[in-house]
Amino acid sequence: MSHPLRDVVLEAFAPLGVLARATDHFTPREGQTEMALAVADVLAQGGSLVVEAGTGVGKTFAYLVPALLSGERVLLSTATKALQDQLYARDLPRLVQALNLPVRLALLKGRSSYLCTHRLEMARRDTQIPDRHTVHLLSRVETWSLSTRTGDLAELPGLDERSPLIPLITSNRDNCLGSQCPKFKTCHVNAARREALGADVVVINHHLFFADMAVRESGMAELLPTVRVVIFDEAHQLNEIGVNFLGHQLGTAQLLDVTRDMLATGLQLARGLADWQGVCATFERAARDLRLMGGKRNTAVKLRWTDEAPEGIHPGAWSQALQDVGAACVQALQALDTVSEIAPDFMRLHDRVAEIAKRVDAFLSPCAPDAVRWMDLSASQMRLMEAPLDIAHTVRERLVKSPMTQGGAAAPDDEPPWQDEERTPPVEDVRPRSWIFTSATLGDDPRLRWFTEPCGLESATVLRVSSPFDYPAQAALFVPRDIVRPNDPAHSSQVALMASESVVRLGGRTLVLTTTLRALRAIGDAMKQQLEGSSIEVLVQGEWPKRHLMTRFREGASAGGQGCVLVASATFWEGFDVPGDALQLVVIDKLPFPPPNDPLVEARSKRLEAQGRSPFNDYFVPEALVALKQGAGRLIRTESDQGVLVVCDNRLVTTSYGRRLLTALPPMRQLANAEALAQSLEALSQNAITTTSTTTS
Ligand code: SF4
Repeated sequence: MSHPLRDVVLEAFAPLGVLARATDHFTPREGQTEMALAVADVLAQGGSLVVEAGTGVGKTFAYLVPALLSGERVLLSTATKALQDQLYARDLPRLVQALNLPVRLALLKGRSSYLCTHRLEMARRDTQIPDRHTVHLLSRVETWSLSTRTGDLAELPGLDERSPLIPLITSNRDNCLGSQCPKFKTCHVNAARREALGADVVVINHHLFFADMAVRESGMAELLPTVRVVIFDEAHQLNEIGVNFLGHQLGTAQLLDVTRDMLATGLQLARGLADWQGVCATFERAARDLRLMGGKRNTAVKLRWTDEAPEGIHPGAWSQALQDVGAACVQALQALDTVSEIAPDFMRLHDRVAEIAKRVDAFLSPCAPDAVRWMDLSASQMRLMEAPLDIAHTVRERLVKSPMTQGGAAAPDDEPPWQDEERTPPVEDVRPRSWIFTSATLGDDPRLRWFTEPCGLESATVLRVSSPFDYPAQAALFVPRDIVRPNDPAHSSQVALMASESVVRLGGRTLVLTTTLRALRAIGDAMKQQLEGSSIEVLVQGEWPKRHLMTRFREGASAGGQGCVLVASATFWEGFDVPGDALQLVVIDKLPFPPPNDPLVEARSKRLEAQGRSPFNDYFVPEALVALKQGAGRLIRTESDQGVLVVCDNRLVTTSYGRRLLTALPPMRQLANAEALAQSLEALSQNAITTTSTTTS
């Protein structure tokens, strides 16, 4: 295919092209150019492109360069806020400068990422702030609020995402006063949305993308029709994030929140005009009775809900409890109707209660086809969930086919840009839109079915670009054959012992990835004991915020002496990027199959069975394969990295599905026995010492 954009892109990636001239570290890579040309083709003709680009291909530049050179409006979505910040603050400005393009960039996050100045003012007057540390933090936020332009809380170093202060100084859809807010004109959330609507490239995240599809409130409903290029990086997370947003949810915390706000607002602004105490007592009682249906729980559980009621709950009693919540909503709506003129707060409360009533009705009706229901229960709250089994229908019907528009009058300055208003109607743009989906891991077959099927992209163009790393030379794999099976109670202690011995040989610099929180605690505790008295620090996920753990891990190795060990689960399987000597050993406790008792996993398995397919081969193995590739991918991040991967699950080498997983891993050389492992680790350790002493001298 020949078109002008292809030629410009080819020139940009050439040995003496604009990228080589403008950046010091650019070297042309065949895979990167191949991907960039495929992106250019889809930009020229429209349609959907799925690219699996192995680590080191340089996929970010491969999609950004053609997208920027195309001159089209681009929406770029990634999986996490950290990656969003990296793209917006580092990769994009660098490229825009190198390509010398007049491009306006914008970053758009969910509202919980921005300071709400109205709520900050309320928090200042709040006498209920839990502790002194939070009071101190609040005063730091106040000082920062005077100088920040964006109000993005990521600018505040050391602010833990789990801090109890965050909900007090950020808004949510329920408590934001919108255009009635006294701070509306200077509101950071609105400013970010306005900037996004006026920008050429907008960086968002998948959560925001799908949250907006579900509730249409963050500005995307206006933004999406005006962009011609949509890029999803870290696309392997798209399906799981999407299903969480595209169903219904109803939580008892949400019911109690609205009760509290209704009582406070009613007594403050309309005392005596309705029986607020009575209305709220009924509402609260209905919420608590609903919670009690799930019984007492000390740990979090998920209850299946395949029939009229969640498992173990009498259907009649369950239906009555839900109806009581519905009746409490009706009573509250009547009270709110009588005072809606008094203050905008009552209109917001009315909307919130009406939304709850709608969800109660939805949960009283049968589950939607191709969806699954369950109940999340913890010691303090209950959440009713209904989720589609995948996002295929949404992607096919609501995304890929969605029309594109041009023009239309912008919202006036004092109006929220995302509200439906009567303005000059935009004109439909008939040019096809381009959709690009990319990640380092999207499956193991030529059509990448693990990704394309649940995302409704079976007819997309698919490209697989291999990593340029020399894996046999850079990395080794060891699978201990004599370790007990993962379901044996002794498994975690054997993993811990083997990991500790390896860590001592290597001198830290190790990431231990576990598949469950139980294994995380067992292995973390055992390794702490085993390495006590050594100079190697053992960090365990959950003991510190993620950002602190990552910084401490990197610092440990940069000190030139012994590195650290990090024992982690869940989010550390991906996105933990430690190039160089700081990480040279990754230990994985077992093959990361999805939990078979999870209601969503069960429902997906049943659907495959009904289609005459094998849930194990078509779902469990591909899921494990993608997760394993992600975990293993933490080891080698650059062309000069060296390291060892240990997978403490001998099913990898003793079963047929294990061999399928093995084939999907990068082609590392295999270590035959524990002696070979010890030698490899000692060689890595010697290398690191030599490198450190050379650097020091
Ligand atoms: S409009 Fe909403 S988010 Fe903005 S300051 Fe007011 S309450 Fe906060």
